[in-house]
Amino acid sequence: MAALDGVADKSVTSVIPPIVQGGLAPVTKDELWHARLGHPGKLVYDKLAKEIGLAKYEPSPYSLCSTCATAKGQLSKGVISDFKTTAPLQLVQVDLCGGFRYEEYVDSKCFLTIRDSYSRYYFVIPLKNKAAATQALINWIHQQENYFSTRGGYKVGTVRTDNGGEFTSNVLHDFFGSKGITHQLTVTDNSSQNGAVERAHRTLQEKMRSLLIGGRVPPYLWSEALRCAAFLLNRLPILPRLRSVPYAQYYGGADGPLRFNNLRTFGCAAFATLPAPLRDGKLAPPVVTGVMVGYSTNRKAYRVYIPQKNKTYETNQVSFDETVFPLRDTAASHQAYDFAIGAAPGLPKAPSVDKGVPHPVVPVDFPEPPSFPSRSSVNPPWPPPSPVAQSTRVMNSPPNSNRWYPIACGINRF
Ligand SMILES: [Zn+2]
Repeated sequence: MAALDGVADKSVTSVIPPIVQGGLAPVTKDELWHARLGHPGKLVYDKLAKEIGLAKYEPSPYSLCSTCATAKGQLSKGVISDFKTTAPLQLVQVDLCGGFRYEEYVDSKCFLTIRDSYSRYYFVIPLKNKAAATQALINWIHQQENYFSTRGGYKVGTVRTDNGGEFTSNVLHDFFGSKGITHQLTVTDNSSQNGAVERAHRTLQEKMRSLLIGGRVPPYLWSEALRCAAFLLNRLPILPRLRSVPYAQYYGGADGPLRFNNLRTFGCAAFATLPAPLRDGKLAPPVVTGVMVGYSTNRKAYRVYIPQKNKTYETNQVSFDETVFPLRDTAASHQAYDFAIGAAPGLPKAPSVDKGVPHPVVPVDFPEPPSFPSRSSVNPPWPPPSPVAQSTRVMNSPPNSNRWYPIACGINRF
């Protein structure tokens, strides 16, 4: 098992002061970590906590986490009926995820979700439409077999899908035939055959809902929540296999220790320094206020949603305030929350910035970006820091602490 890096997060005090607006921000250290990890159950949390040096999760006996109560239905019982696998790629379960009835803010309409049965590792691949699923799956198989060609030589053995047209095409059939891959099609009305895949995707969607509700993030950002859900699930212990997490099980520790101290709460305020080409003119302030919506899949960076632009950027030039949730008091957020708890039938739509419609969700009390010390007071004027060194800097402290923490972001792989 890959080493799990300790949580040397000195920026988090043991008790976070409650915020004036009340209600949503975590108030104790274990509540903060419960939120950062996407609301895992106590057993999973405590297992991970032991590995990375956190205290056990001690929820208040007088209250319950409203996000958990809202996002999670009755937990399904029983074990997943995978056949016994002994290595990555032996059995992969593939499904299309989409049709959430929410208008998206980007042009990916659905997601290919791929779950490796041996490690329980999730891959989430955005697609422009369902027809793109075939080629995306073929590309993924090539990529993974390439990756493992010098790391054990694992090959895809069996692919399990449902009977959807995108999985029964001749192209895919011929590809599987040429590679010697077995294609298992689940029978639509056979619940035992479908059970494993359905339960796997229910887990993913449950985590996605927890993130949206916990951060009061409107559901048109569901694709960000889905990516982040997979990212977190890949790092949380799997209960039947308490000795490992999917990430370590899949990659075998090949990419160094898995670090947790860069996790931040989904939906919290993110103060990002935009690179010059993305700014609105030379006089625009370099720091914009956005929303933390996950982690980059191919670089050490966070994904930050900027409401005014209705776009998400990846950056490591960012600091966070985990007591502020900028999209919380917006109409779209309230509407989504009401819908989640069954109090309202309507669904909010994504803002349409490109069509000239003003963004409806910027709250009146949108927090101002904090003032930071100038770079020259942090970095010695000479020799100038190299562009590479600058790109690995992360502001890791709460913005009101008025300090820079130029530490490397420790996220290895997403
Ligand atoms: Zn919770």
